[in-house]
Amino acid sequence: MYAVAARVKDEDIALVRDRTSIADVISETVTLRSAGGGNLKGLCPFHDEKSPSFNVSPARGVYFCFGCGQGGDAIKFLMDAEHLSFVEALERLAGKAGIQLRYDNDGPQPSGPRPQAGQRQRLIAAHASAVEFYRDQLGSPGARKAREFLAGRGFGRDAAEKYGCGFAPDSWDALSKHLRLQGFTQDELITAGLSKTARSGSLIDRFRRRLLWPIRDLSGDVIGFGARKLFDDDDGPKYLNTPETPIYKKSHVLYGIDHAKREIAKRGRAVIVEGYTDVMACHEAGEPTAVATCGTAFGIDHIGVLRRLLMDSDSFTGEIIYTFDGDAAGQKAALRAFEEDQRFVGRTFIAVSPDNMDPCDLRLTRGDLAVRDMIAGREPLVDFALRHTISRFDLDTVEGRVEAMRKAAPLVAKIKDREKRPEYARKLAGDLGMDLEPVQRAVNNALRGEAAEQRSPGRRVPADSPQRLVEREALKLALQEPALAGPMFDALGPENYADPVLAALREAIAQAGGACSATAGVVWIEKVRDSCTDLGAQGLVSELAVEPLRVDGAADPRYVQITLARLQGAAVTTRIRDLKSKVQRLNPVTHKDQYLALAGELFSLEQQARALREQAAGGM
Ligand SMILES: [Zn+2]
Repeated sequence: MYAVAARVKDEDIALVRDRTSIADVISETVTLRSAGGGNLKGLCPFHDEKSPSFNVSPARGVYFCFGCGQGGDAIKFLMDAEHLSFVEALERLAGKAGIQLRYDNDGPQPSGPRPQAGQRQRLIAAHASAVEFYRDQLGSPGARKAREFLAGRGFGRDAAEKYGCGFAPDSWDALSKHLRLQGFTQDELITAGLSKTARSGSLIDRFRRRLLWPIRDLSGDVIGFGARKLFDDDDGPKYLNTPETPIYKKSHVLYGIDHAKREIAKRGRAVIVEGYTDVMACHEAGEPTAVATCGTAFGIDHIGVLRRLLMDSDSFTGEIIYTFDGDAAGQKAALRAFEEDQRFVGRTFIAVSPDNMDPCDLRLTRGDLAVRDMIAGREPLVDFALRHTISRFDLDTVEGRVEAMRKAAPLVAKIKDREKRPEYARKLAGDLGMDLEPVQRAVNNALRGEAAEQRSPGRRVPADSPQRLVEREALKLALQEPALAGPMFDALGPENYADPVLAALREAIAQAGGACSATAGVVWIEKVRDSCTDLGAQGLVSELAVEPLRVDGAADPRYVQITLARLQGAAVTTRIRDLKSKVQRLNPVTHKDQYLALAGELFSLEQQARALREQAAGGM
């Protein structure tokens, strides 16, 4: 599950899990009450609810919310609730349990270069030192232009201090020398992206004569800088950022996320702006959820970061609000965002400021309230995309209307929330001045194209079918009562599970050594979770580990037998159905041998099914 876990020794991770009381960890933020059977219950910290559906199983070391589907172990809880990385969460629990973590440097490299033990801390320390150095420089006489730049955009000394702004002095190596004196090696400074090697071979600073913004990760550590050009004779680009380093990945980095994360989670929305000063302006104007990408377009990984903060799921409707200039480039960016958005379940809006001002200019000329008004006046991205698509055509002519419909219909088809599509088709027809029927047809055609693209393999099993319930029950037994489920469970392979995700989980249990090999508890659950190659199956582990068994009282061998007989019975019934339809399509005269063979197989399967039904009824 956690790729990065490879850095910490496996036995140390297991030790932390073993010594951690999940009830203690969760109790720090959630009030838990007894729910019977040794389980605990509370109000879910990940979604709004009035009656508790958040369950904790101390015996198995897992939690699961039946309301929103969040679940996992104590490490996962800290990752989600405190927005920590795996290692950060692990280190925190290890600290509490008094365990000294050892980092695995010598093992085989799983994929790509791996940061060395302690390297991250060194690079973070170098950045922390650099922030102080640059901040001190901002008060120096040489930094007048930097101070003027900030003041000209409405930011005084307090704001500069709050956001940690700094100035890179007019020197080739002032920072490099300063950090070398503090004991950082040449390699560390180059790896951190703070210094580089000059043609002469000497170590020089990456940033010179520029205004700097420290860029922080979710936990608040500075991992890089954004640097703005101030002087006309500086022939570099307007903005310069830290290059890719072991700690700075521009596809994930969001400026302002450290300040914004709690507000994003609390308010259920995130505002995407374009620059450092826009983030500052929004925060200062009373919109503390603003973030910006750093030197790259807003992409799928940024969505992932926000999604975790917004806890976006199929049932959750967090808001992402893009602010874009109303000009052509901004419109293009908005349309691109629409494409990206289809991977983001949630509500997406666009806020366009009056007169094409960015949030920073808007605040400067019209004040804080104007910034908040701009965001309050957001428009659903779908509406914006449709409006701008059809505005390119002359709707006074038949050709223009038909062409506009052809371009707009695919957008309606792309709307992920299918219930909204008819409504938007109607709206589109109205905007185009056309009848609904041809528009609906164009949308349906586009939908067929989409469907052909994403046709998914595998058979669908209805969520609440008896077969699926029995498949889940069997897996619950293997996770919760492995000793009891034991060889009987292990004997029935993944082919007995019609639901592909449940079959994948069955496979993972086999990979983890089978129910036979296990003793109930957190170690077993984690072993299964780590063996999952299917993300859907991985997501189910916690749910099935805490969901109560469908039996009154404790599970016993008889209940295991009944459940597994039903599972097998369901699989046999499916095979019988497939076989029957095959037999029906065969001509018994022209394909006599084949017909007889299949009919024989069918007969023996039906016998088997009858025997299993008797077992499933309790061996009577
Ligand atoms: Zn929940």
